[in-house]
Amino acid sequence: MKPVGPIPPGFADQTGELAIGGRPVSSLVSEAGATPLFVYSADMIAQRISDLREHLPASIRLNYAIKANSFAPLLNRMAALVDGFDIASRGELEMALASGMKPSSISFAGPGKGDDELAAAIEAGVTINLESEHEAERALAIGRRGNLTPCLAIRVNPRFELRGSGMKMGGGAKPFGIDAERIPALVRELATQDCEWRGLHIFTGSQSLDAQAVLEAQANVLALADQIARDSGIGIPLLNMGGGFGIPYFPGDKPLDLARLGQGISVGMQNLPSTLSDTEFHIELGRYLVGEAGVYLTRILDRKESYGETYLITDGGLHHQLAASGNFGTVVRRNYPVGIATRFDKPAEETVNIVGRLCTPLDRLADKVRMPKAGVGDIVAVFCAGAYGASASPSAFLGHGPAAEILV
Ligand SMILES: *Cc1c(COP(=O)(O)O)cnc(C)c1O
Repeated sequence: MKPVGPIPPGFADQTGELAIGGRPVSSLVSEAGATPLFVYSADMIAQRISDLREHLPASIRLNYAIKANSFAPLLNRMAALVDGFDIASRGELEMALASGMKPSSISFAGPGKGDDELAAAIEAGVTINLESEHEAERALAIGRRGNLTPCLAIRVNPRFELRGSGMKMGGGAKPFGIDAERIPALVRELATQDCEWRGLHIFTGSQSLDAQAVLEAQANVLALADQIARDSGIGIPLLNMGGGFGIPYFPGDKPLDLARLGQGISVGMQNLPSTLSDTEFHIELGRYLVGEAGVYLTRILDRKESYGETYLITDGGLHHQLAASGNFGTVVRRNYPVGIATRFDKPAEETVNIVGRLCTPLDRLADKVRMPKAGVGDIVAVFCAGAYGASASPSAFLGHGPAAEILV
């Protein structure tokens, strides 16, 4: 028997079934017309954002990194709830603009931007987070050719990283950003060019459940931004401090202490170096805003025994929920929170393996978990599916196609 991760708060049973946004799963599945299905709760997302705003200093602007979940109805809702979107491709630029988010509140990072992407971003008036000196030259040249003024920020590759971060994206040699030592020279160069100087983007890592580690990273970010401002002699209009706020996915994971984090960030904001006294601060979050508000529902197609183990074979799999299968940036596979959505009020009575329908041994949704007895037709719920599910899974693999999605 292996444990499952913690089911996020707010999911109750209603007449024996899992309810999302006050509606039982069978009603959600009939509305969507099919399984597999991602259901996202708009109320839970709104609640998460209002909790964050309550704890963070009012001066901090909140951006959503749309790669976590770019489902159009969700983006439309998010556009009214957050202060900006962070994007990483031309496709995401189009989605962000279609949501109604103001171009001046969109920023575009990503280590390999094509000329077409730079041109589209400059035309739209979104901020480009430059990832190399070469990219700076290209953006300036495209601006000159089109008689447009690019809005440019620089993404810094810092020497430090978010301690214990689930995904390492700072600290040492990296394809992301420009090494910290080279930033002041580029800032001075941009000041002589025809562009609007927007400031710095310093992202230090992801998926941290440790408030102290996030605060240390942010203190380092502020110190580095101060250093760059002093070395370049040029102010920083905007500082995107990254984020990295994590959510509990696995057995033993504890939620981030938001009160402690908010308190620490407030202290940081009250003790800013004078170089940053006119700076606007952004935090960019993906999974923390949407991850726990999404559930992946998949129906049991078959129930089989093999050498003493029971397999529940579902109509879903890693082509929709790669992360839950343990194949998206994890070293050791652990179980996400899962449940039998159509028997949500029943006690666990057997140990089963829940798998997807793909012809690969990688396609596991839950290993050796204790569940209520379930059979063909029952619906399995995989929780924490609101981020990096549909947007980060290989839905073309094996030809079953993408899952349906609804926002309720
Ligand atoms: C992926 C990413 C994010 C969002 O990360 P989460 O862990 O989902 O919060 C934010 N900023 C940058 C630069 C990213 O690459």
